[in-house]
Amino acid sequence: MVKLGALKTLTKMDEVEQVKSKVDLVDLISEYLPLKKAGRNLKAACPFHLETSPSFMVSPDLQIWRCFGCGKGGDAYTFLEEKEGMTFPEALEYLAKRVGVTIKRKISQGDDSKAKLYQINELAARFYNYLLVKHKVGEEAREYLKRRKISEKSIEKFEIGYAPKAWETLLKFLSKKYQLSDISNSGLLVAKEKGGFYDRFRGRLMFPIKSAGGEIVGFSGRVLKDESSEPKYINTPETKIFSKGRILYGLHLARASIKHENEAILVEGEFDAIASHQAGVENAVATKGTALTENQVTILSRLCDNLSICFDTDLAGDAAARRGIELADSAGLNIKVIQLEKAKDPADLISQSPNLWQKAVSKAIPVFDFLISSALRRNDQLTAQGKKQIAGELLPILGKITDEVVKAHYLSKLANQLEVGEEVLRREMEKKQDWKDQNLGVKFEDSSEVKKGIMGSSKQDRLEEYFLALLFQGKDFKIENNLLPPLADIQNPSLKNLYKMSIIPPGTVAKKNKGFSKLTDEEIEIYKRLSLVDLSEIVDTEDGWLKEVKKISQSIKKESLKGKLELLTNQIKKAEEGKKEKELDVLKKRFRDLSLELANI
Ligand SMILES: [Zn+2]
Repeated sequence: MVKLGALKTLTKMDEVEQVKSKVDLVDLISEYLPLKKAGRNLKAACPFHLETSPSFMVSPDLQIWRCFGCGKGGDAYTFLEEKEGMTFPEALEYLAKRVGVTIKRKISQGDDSKAKLYQINELAARFYNYLLVKHKVGEEAREYLKRRKISEKSIEKFEIGYAPKAWETLLKFLSKKYQLSDISNSGLLVAKEKGGFYDRFRGRLMFPIKSAGGEIVGFSGRVLKDESSEPKYINTPETKIFSKGRILYGLHLARASIKHENEAILVEGEFDAIASHQAGVENAVATKGTALTENQVTILSRLCDNLSICFDTDLAGDAAARRGIELADSAGLNIKVIQLEKAKDPADLISQSPNLWQKAVSKAIPVFDFLISSALRRNDQLTAQGKKQIAGELLPILGKITDEVVKAHYLSKLANQLEVGEEVLRREMEKKQDWKDQNLGVKFEDSSEVKKGIMGSSKQDRLEEYFLALLFQGKDFKIENNLLPPLADIQNPSLKNLYKMSIIPPGTVAKKNKGFSKLTDEEIEIYKRLSLVDLSEIVDTEDGWLKEVKKISQSIKKESLKGKLELLTNQIKKAEEGKKEKELDVLKKRFRDLSLELANI
């Protein structure tokens, strides 16, 4: 009755899929962590973040994993990439060996699409570098770098290049060796509306962006004149091998130093990172203007325990920046903030004197001290309104500090500054905490259990998500369709779509997988997430499952009726105000009917 096809058949069975289909994800992960049964799934304490109660789930059915604590997830390949720090080709090679599949064309030299993209980027980087260093066309760019005091050694080390101000320079060069479609997949070209391509990067300094493994995954290009009408920086768009949130610029060069110093210096732009290395601070990497992402935090937390941030961004005021700090804190990193006094960014400071940068780095202050003093500076701590403002800004941040001792330290510091009792702050903080907890898990009416992986933002959404999780994970069990809520009762459009796909409407035959091709990527993601919700015990027996499904179905029906009644109440009120007697009668009758229906559930 409840039916969902395997997602696997959606994708082509190329080598990557072929290897994956032979790997048992449960076996693989079991070599690293003890997995315990949890309904249809297995669970463990997450290997990627610190936790006491397990949030790391593995689905043997779908061969996927996900941690509801830190949000990481994926398949066998991503698990090895995360856990072993392997690159994708390495993970493929490792798993292929493991299951005895010979990769026909060696990924490092063959025509696998990702390998080809690496090669194209590599060749483009060499071409751009040649034009900058040796060619007449690169003269203006060479002058520019000289003015910014970037040394020849740095140009070589970071493989900086120059893309001339013309439409087809790179295109003509690369198309001697590669097909246009492949070059275009690398993101180096832009497709014209009427067909054909032109160079994406024109008249720009080119910074190759490398993966941790040292392959060039993309580029960032900067205009030579700040007053240009073009955007200052453009990047390679998302490609098979380039994803902005995974990139730390300069990591391949900084890695050894980060390990050695047990600290990473995080700056915003390419120039800052390059100048820092040039000034002898070689553990610097750049986020490329984005706030710190989960992926970046994981990469860094594997290498060191300390992180010093030097951003232009208002760390306290910017939600994304705050989230980055939370992520880094929960990954166990000690975070400090580097403050610049007489410069707009590190590159600027270093051009004054490399020593000044070294000094600023050594004087970094702990991030929570920084945030407190920043809030105190911007608000009046003597007035009630000011105190409220400061507490409102800081408590959500301090509340998320993972270490209790550290948290207590800052709460008492803030209490002193505001001249209010620490207890008052703690109570305020817990109020906000309650709200947060509710968002992470779902509390159901007559049970106190909280389910990891249910993430809907409203109660209705969470109820519907939980219901679908039950359906997906109970697909071996049977239930009469008339016990399930009608489609119209599901309010969330994505969940409604998934629900539609997961039941066979009476009188029709659902063709296997047909429905899935109609789902959006986001819906497929929801499907995967809900398939991993921890339903230990509930889905162990058909009886237990059936009971829960009936209960939740009724709750959904009830919620739907309550919603309709609320709407009717408003309509009745309006009809009364407008003295529309006839309409009022109809509405009131409908209200009575629905109330009766609700009472009978
Ligand atoms: Zn985790």
